[in-house]
Amino acid sequence: MWLRVAIRFRIPRMSSSVSAERNAILETLRAFCDAEIRPHVMEWDETQQFPRELFRRLGELGFLGTIFPEEYGGADLSYLDYAAIVEEISSVDGAVGLSLAAHTSLGSNHIFTFGTEAQKRRYLPKLTSGEWLAAWGLTEPEAGSDSWGTKTTAVRDGETWVLNGSKNFITNASVAGVAVLMAVTDRSKGRHGISAFIVELDTPGIRVGKKENKLGMRASDTCTLVMEDCRIPAQQLLGAPGDGFVNSMAILDGGRISIAAMSIGIARGAFEAALAYSKERRQFGKPICEFEAIRFYLAEMATDIDAARLLTQRAAAAKDAGELESRLSAQAKLFASEIAVRATDRALQIHGGYGFMKDFPVEKFYRDVKLCTIGEGTSEIQKLVIAKSLLE
Ligand SMILES: Cc1cc2nc3c(=O)[nH]c(=O)nc-3n(C[C@H](O)[C@H](O)[C@H](O)COP(=O)(O)OP(=O)(O)OC[C@H]3O[C@@H](n4cnc5c(N)ncnc54)[C@H](O)[C@@H]3O)c2cc1C
Repeated sequence: MWLRVAIRFRIPRMSSSVSAERNAILETLRAFCDAEIRPHVMEWDETQQFPRELFRRLGELGFLGTIFPEEYGGADLSYLDYAAIVEEISSVDGAVGLSLAAHTSLGSNHIFTFGTEAQKRRYLPKLTSGEWLAAWGLTEPEAGSDSWGTKTTAVRDGETWVLNGSKNFITNASVAGVAVLMAVTDRSKGRHGISAFIVELDTPGIRVGKKENKLGMRASDTCTLVMEDCRIPAQQLLGAPGDGFVNSMAILDGGRISIAAMSIGIARGAFEAALAYSKERRQFGKPICEFEAIRFYLAEMATDIDAARLLTQRAAAAKDAGELESRLSAQAKLFASEIAVRATDRALQIHGGYGFMKDFPVEKFYRDVKLCTIGEGTSEIQKLVIAKSLLE
């Protein structure tokens, strides 16, 4: 299916070539980002303001439902396309990329992949159109990397489930209409005793708690969700009882591809800024790009970014083919996020003192990128996932 954005901007369909189609979408997206995101990036960052109106526009244009079928209002694009879209947006603003990724490949995709037909019909059209945003909550104060340590409980009471507990660091928590939340339904079964639930965020008993004041990704909303006797209908169980944790891991396999794409976008944004700056800035009577030290930085950054993109495309292609193994997305996320941290550091170094100032975009890329080695599993956890697969 051809993205709504393409229709709106009258891009001719080139069905003979998937990559030509992707390029056309990306070109349009680039123009959209330049007009509607780039001018506001620092204002949203400094005020920690989530750009809700922008997300309505992204929904109208089809960018909030890229990977879902047309029958649910999606654009029916591939995961490869989705990764390219996340990269493009993140090259302008990582915070918008993060909120879009949590909405798409975590919250909405959990409902799409494991939901009943009735759940998909109720929620996906609202989510793909941008009427609602989705959040996804696994993390708790005592259950971060050790997500089996979930303390939130869900107890069956007649035709309802009653949820108690809290989820922290939840992207989109205060701006979403619905969240997919994991809770223990049978503690004796360990990881097979955690279930997933779809919770509408205007349900009595669930409220937004602390809003985090963050180093980076400041325009992306990050809050705690607190559940106190939050009663939801029995049919809000998502997937089979006890499958919530295992299904979450499958959702994270896809999500990590989007974090890899986000890392590449941020690294590319910083690289492009540094490349341009190195041609303009003159010291010792010549542009600084004439110095070998700066050239080596640029060469290494460009090579790292390309290598990260290839790993990410390998994982995305495997997902499109239904052959994604955890190792592939963990390798992509690990490599892309680590090189992105290094690339933004080098990009800032190339700017010298000016890179330290908020007048130049590299300062924000440097702050935003650190989330990429932490969210959806830290680099250390990605190494555990990769090593487990190698040793099996
Ligand atoms: C901006 C932001 C947005 C987020 N959005 C979401 C969201 O939408 N939904 C959600 O559920 N979560 C979200 N998270 C949470 C994120 O996934 C967790 O922060 C992450 O998984 C790490 O958990 P933690 O912060 O508790 O760190 P910890 O688990 O406490 O880790 C601390 C350190 O110990 C290391 N460590 C832990 N265990 C091991 C081990 N076995 N071996 C080696 N090293 C180890 C870690 O790698 C890390 O370096 C978000 C986080 C942030 C910062």
